[in-house]
Amino acid sequence: MMHVNQNSKKTLLTHCRIVNPYGEIDFIENGSILIQDGLIKEIGQIESANTVDETIDLKGKTVLPGMINAHSHLYSALATGMPFPKGSPTNFTEILEQVWWILDRALDKESTKASYEAGLMDHLRYGVTTVIDHHSSQNYIKGSLQLLADTADQFGMNISGAFEMTDRNGANTFQGSLDENIRFHNTYIDSATVRPLIGLHASFTLSDESLQHIADQLKHETNWGIHVHTAEDKADQTDAEKRGYSSVIQRLDSFGLLNENSLVIHGIHFKPEDSEIIKRTGAMLVHNPSSNANNRVGMTPSKLIENLNAGLGTDGMQGNMLAEAKEGTLIRSSHLPGGAAGVHYAELLFRNNPAIATKLFNRKIGKLDPGYSADMAIFDYRPRTVFHAGNWIGHSLFGMDKPSDVMTAGQFRIRDYELMGISETEILNKAQVQSNKLWKRMEDGVME
Ligand SMILES: [Zn+2]
Repeated sequence: MMHVNQNSKKTLLTHCRIVNPYGEIDFIENGSILIQDGLIKEIGQIESANTVDETIDLKGKTVLPGMINAHSHLYSALATGMPFPKGSPTNFTEILEQVWWILDRALDKESTKASYEAGLMDHLRYGVTTVIDHHSSQNYIKGSLQLLADTADQFGMNISGAFEMTDRNGANTFQGSLDENIRFHNTYIDSATVRPLIGLHASFTLSDESLQHIADQLKHETNWGIHVHTAEDKADQTDAEKRGYSSVIQRLDSFGLLNENSLVIHGIHFKPEDSEIIKRTGAMLVHNPSSNANNRVGMTPSKLIENLNAGLGTDGMQGNMLAEAKEGTLIRSSHLPGGAAGVHYAELLFRNNPAIATKLFNRKIGKLDPGYSADMAIFDYRPRTVFHAGNWIGHSLFGMDKPSDVMTAGQFRIRDYELMGISETEILNKAQVQSNKLWKRMEDGVME
């Protein structure tokens, strides 16, 4: 038998319902998918020919593109069930001070690794194959992004990494974070599966001197983009105004930090002129409804989301993008009168996120069209109502749960609910041990 190179191998998936939102062919009730070189080669009614190396009968399962989380914080994966802060935060800044800025200082190498593993596994379990992460472990900086890339590689996932730079832990920590971002950028800027971005926590925790310093460093680099929280709370805008700028976006733009590879997150309190700056620079907005609801910071206006073709992220709240789209729909609906137009969250997830990932990774990600990366979430979904081209949104947001199979670059990473080459038990056990230690450090430190 001829030895077949894994990459050039031709695999044919047959007997599947293909749901390819916003794709060239958007729905096939009983079709097949041909994969070669890690890419989708063809979808439709394909005859199983001799030239195919492997045929896999999906027996009526439903295939969606592998999904993308456009803003996550894997470092918060061990926060599930964490003790409440003793001080009962009353506003957004206090939530940061009493919860997240204690957690991100308590993370060491082992707990960071356990967070990455548990968080990425959670995403993969829900058919999310590309994660755009914003990382913060303020006392474990050097090598933390390399560890993220290595961990994502074990899962076969696409990862974007950025380290959150801030002034709040002193000049050495800021410089170390900048060095980590630049080192990661230079290592991975040409990678197909790892997309480095330059991480900034937020405008209000960075001085003009720090922004200038970042801008000076980036003058030596190419193809960079920043990843930053913007106007998540009114306090961020107020801070920018106090420093003499008209807004957070105008401040970042005045240092030349916004460009077509840049991600600006939240935008809840944007001013009307901010949209113009974002359009001019080509920067991309990402909306995170469940986190915004949780933090009670308000809602990103529907018009802004529509106008800027915003992406969808979870801000560390979960790895389940179908749930995020459903929750976004419900959170917004609860604030709208009957008959008012909402936001089409499925559009954010299946149209805008693929556009963002395709631009950042510089290859086609997030659809099942020919030429796209063969990343797929395959559901053993037995609908109780008719499934057709016109109602995939209802079925995917309100019917489907976890996929039975997940594929990236043409390889199964989950097959019949089993992770391939990875021990789920081991990862969960490690996460339990590390979360205990982490919570203890948080209590011993600043939470008392
Ligand atoms: Zn965030």
